Amino acid sequence: MADKKNLVIIGSGPAGHTAAIYAARADLAPFMFEGYMKGGSAGGQLTTTTEVENYPGFPEGIDGPELMQLFRKQAARFGTEMVMEDVEEVDFSKRPFRIRSSEREVLADAVIIATGATARRMGVPSEEKMWNNGMSACAVCDGALPMFRNQPLMVIGGGDTAVEEASYLTKFATTVYLVHRRDELRASKIMQERALKNPKIEIIWDTVFEDALGEDYVTGARLKNIKTGETREVDVAGIFYAIGHTPNTDVFAGQIDLDPTGYIIVQPGTQQTSVEGVFAAGDVHDHKYRQAVTAAGTGCAAALEAERWLQEQ
Ligand code: NDP
Repeated sequence: MADKKNLVIIGSGPAGHTAAIYAARADLAPFMFEGYMKGGSAGGQLTTTTEVENYPGFPEGIDGPELMQLFRKQAARFGTEMVMEDVEEVDFSKRPFRIRSSEREVLADAVIIATGATARRMGVPSEEKMWNNGMSACAVCDGALPMFRNQPLMVIGGGDTAVEEASYLTKFATTVYLVHRRDELRASKIMQERALKNPKIEIIWDTVFEDALGEDYVTGARLKNIKTGETREVDVAGIFYAIGHTPNTDVFAGQIDLDPTGYIIVQPGTQQTSVEGVFAAGDVHDHKYRQAVTAAGTGCAAALEAERWLQEQ
């Protein structure tokens, strides 16, 4: 017989743990599937970054994995039960909801989905070695690190994120190369104009990024023009992917409404998904801000909404 819980939280990044802290303090005894391998690892995207300087309350900055340990400790302190398992299947068609991992099946009156998103990578040969040694998928998280200051930097992509990140990096960089595979940006007109006008941004059109150069840290990038076939090397101290994110929602397809790119749709101004009693928080429903602090904020909101909803039942 499956265990029955008031509230199951799926995911253990800032959104999941903040939801757990609020739910546990409201005596809901939340049960959390922390995740294991899917979509990165337990603790979410912050565990793959180095220093976090923009999370309020840490004026000196804090290590990403350390911050997530603190989140986890706080959720545990108020009695959140956690298992480091991936959810493999859910059934939200009737209540109580059913959630199954490789190890167990749990029934839940309410569910908060906080499984986050995964920054897309290109899988170039030196990527594993260079990740966090000059390669990153988040300029806002990593761009201000000392290793990138007063250096030429590179952003890959042509969407709003790429342009926004390139603009952001001009604060620190000598030059920002924006490398795009076509001859036209995908970014909105206003963002494009900003990039084109910025004297520190140099757009390299029709070009793909082939690999990072360097021994232990990034010192350059090898690029290939796809129209001429010409290959060249450019000196840079940092390479930032901005080629989109993939929300970690495979397991929920067909159970709740997702937008065409896979993000969970919530009712405006709420964390409520298309299934009553199932809430979403963090990057899994937010492709716009994608910050730890906004994820934590929506995690709090989801827990308060879940608590109210459970009371009404
Ligand atoms: P997008 O999917 O919009 O853009 C991804 C970009 O990366 C595209 O230019 C794409 O090229 C390029 N790309 C994808 N795969 C590869 C690859 N393998 N190699 C090289 N280039 C690749 O993602 P974004 O993260 O930019 O934006 C996501 C959503 O968030 C959008 O709706 C955007 O408007 C929104 N957003 C809004 C912001 C704001 O309002 N301030 C800020 C940031 C995002 P191609 O164009 O050729 O397909």
